[in-house]
Amino acid sequence: MLLLCTYVISRLAHGNGYDPTVDGLLGMLAEWSMVTVAWLAVRRATAARAEVCWAAAAISAQVLADTYYVFAREDLTAGASTNAVTISDIGYLLFYPLLFCALAQRARRRLVSVAFPVFLNSAVGAFGASAVLAVVLQPVIESARQEPMGLSTAIALAYPLFDLVLVAIIAGIAAFQASGGDRLWILLVSGLLLFTTADVLYVLAEATDVYLIGTNVDLVWGSGILLLVLWTDGLADRREPLVFETGRNEALTVPIIGTLAALFVLLLGTQIHIPLLALVLASTTLVLAAAPLVFRQRMLHRITRTDELTGLPNRRALYADAPAKFKGRARKPHALLLLDLDRFKEVNDSLGHDVGDLLLMQVAARLRRELGPNDLLARLGGDEFAVLLDDSESADAVSKAAAIGESLAGQFMLEGISLQTSASIGIALFPSQGTDLRLLMRKADMAMYKAKTGHTGNHVYHSEDDHHGGQRLRTLQELREALRDDQLVLHYQPKVSLDTGQVQGAEALVRWNHPERGLLPPASFLALAEESGLMHELTLVVLGKALDQAAQWQAAQTPLAVAVNVSASSLIDTSFPDKIESLLKQRGLAGASLVLEITEDFLMGDRDRARSILTQLRDRGVQIAVDDFGTGYSSLSYLRDLPIDELKLDQSFVFPIIDDPRAASLVASTVSLAHGLDLRMVAEGVESRAVYDQLTAYGCDRAQGFYISRPLPADEFDQWIDLLGTAGFTGNRVHQPTDS
Ligand code: C2E
Ligand code: MG
Ligand code: MG
Repeated sequence: MLLLCTYVISRLAHGNGYDPTVDGLLGMLAEWSMVTVAWLAVRRATAARAEVCWAAAAISAQVLADTYYVFAREDLTAGASTNAVTISDIGYLLFYPLLFCALAQRARRRLVSVAFPVFLNSAVGAFGASAVLAVVLQPVIESARQEPMGLSTAIALAYPLFDLVLVAIIAGIAAFQASGGDRLWILLVSGLLLFTTADVLYVLAEATDVYLIGTNVDLVWGSGILLLVLWTDGLADRREPLVFETGRNEALTVPIIGTLAALFVLLLGTQIHIPLLALVLASTTLVLAAAPLVFRQRMLHRITRTDELTGLPNRRALYADAPAKFKGRARKPHALLLLDLDRFKEVNDSLGHDVGDLLLMQVAARLRRELGPNDLLARLGGDEFAVLLDDSESADAVSKAAAIGESLAGQFMLEGISLQTSASIGIALFPSQGTDLRLLMRKADMAMYKAKTGHTGNHVYHSEDDHHGGQRLRTLQELREALRDDQLVLHYQPKVSLDTGQVQGAEALVRWNHPERGLLPPASFLALAEESGLMHELTLVVLGKALDQAAQWQAAQTPLAVAVNVSASSLIDTSFPDKIESLLKQRGLAGASLVLEITEDFLMGDRDRARSILTQLRDRGVQIAVDDFGTGYSSLSYLRDLPIDELKLDQSFVFPIIDDPRAASLVASTVSLAHGLDLRMVAEGVESRAVYDQLTAYGCDRAQGFYISRPLPADEFDQWIDLLGTAGFTGNRVHQPTDS
């Protein structure tokens, strides 16, 4: 900054004329300091790194060219004219494609459906501006007409033209931005306009052969570079890509200005003499401006039928095109496949919408690859896609659905994060199950839910599914009522120390006391709660109840830590730690009275976010257990990385340890793994004395399972503890209660 100010003041003070200290040393130092800032921005940049890198390269090319211009040409010091083509021109010219790459990178996403209008608007703007430029540069163009134009004049003329073309492109893109979008481009446009001004002054000066380095025009270039550097620097902090909206009125600004400029030039041409080039450019502008009127209908048609994100046909296009397929020769069989990604909401919530969008784009690409030229593929919205398979019987549809499932199961790489996903596909058949798309959609939708709840990947509609669909909706309504009317109850299952038999805590397990269907296990409603977005509410209800119980135990002088299961979708709420803190405070409980059982899939998502939330919970004294340990498919690196207190080894590993030596050694080594990492090991699903003893021998810390006790309603749980007395659990002679 200091350097910059010194240079500007010295430059102004010095007046015109090249000075080796001011224009050479100070000027160059100032420019290189700005280049340094740009490259520091590259180092800092995260999401926008590629574009910042291109921008820094463009600025470097410009400054390198300046440096050569000033130092490498000896005749400059003598104050000679500079208007021959030099190596510097290569640097100056390189600036434009490099900056163009930065812009292209910046706009590369989501531009699919607006690409053509952006192009056309930018072209109208660029031609209009060039027409005005041709008028302004009249002396140069006229003199070039007298004698053949030298390459150096042509290049000099090109600079302001390129500047304006870039300005028009940026303005064209920026005008399509969704409201509230990025305002940073104003810096870039201003910088380029300063370049244009300086370049015009340069060309005019060069025409009369008097341009000398060391005038205040240099300051205009310098300020242009400064604004570009500020833009680059601001870009480095951007995380979100640009979002574009079609049909914005602002999008018309650029073509309107371009058209007005062209009209002005043509009108001027009727009054004074202007170069023919200006007239040609102005006329071209008007022709281009009129082009959308000609293509308007087609463009509108295309835009309204295209999904903006993926470029696929949208729901409207599917509804428009399907009837023709159904009408075709002799009612050829077709199959409608409705595809919905599993747990897409979690990806969106934990990794951000940007990653979610990238996932959808890649899913669209894979789907396209699986399908034939006569099949229709459309994105219906969100994570829902539809495929109308041409000439397809039930069996063909099922095997195609399986192939799609397989193709989607492969890893996706999204901005450096590798991710797996799966999809549920519902199938409805034309003409046997319906002859119009609306009916087939409804049936495919019901089949899709069947596939989703049954985890079967795909399912062909069957008349029974009608009933299931209705049933599902009813259950959802009832679940909402259950949350409102306090129908959820908790059962508690003890975790005992294998060393001493003392009860160390209890896991709270939710049940639904359904007014007609009786006590329902969590398996019958948790998936529904998750899918319908009720899970977060459910978790808060369970937490409230479990902590009420912990407060009662504390009041009865038998304090016990209560463990609550939290699904990934609740944990990604950044205010979750604060909510927990206030729930604890309201009941006068310490953080240590709560254990949160989380599953590995939460840890699999955004690691930084997981660490931040878990650390905040830990800071409040809350303990973290990894539930169903060993069943997730995440890497174990999180164990080293994240604040975790307990591993709960999944039942499926514990059940077979008596009969299967390999299962036994797996458990034994997992116990030492946990201890090596200073974690507590809890075995779930302990159903027999033999397993209990074996686990004790392996040094496992705690056990939970039917052998010790089934999950019990709070009052029965208290009785069970009373019966144990001070000796703790010594073997199952106590209780075999009613709960499942
Ligand atoms: P989980 O957290 O792994 O809970 C242990 C499950 O294993 C419980 O099933 C428990 O009844 C069962 N279990 C305990 N000991 C034994 C045994 O010795 N043998 C066998 N075969 N099973 C045993 P439950 O209560 O049906 O819960 C199933 C799952 O539902 C839980 O697995 C947990 O993931 C989820 N869940 C339960 N309550 C909640 C809740 O409040 N919120 C959330 N998000 N999930 C919950
Ligand atoms: Mg659990
Ligand atoms: Mg478990």
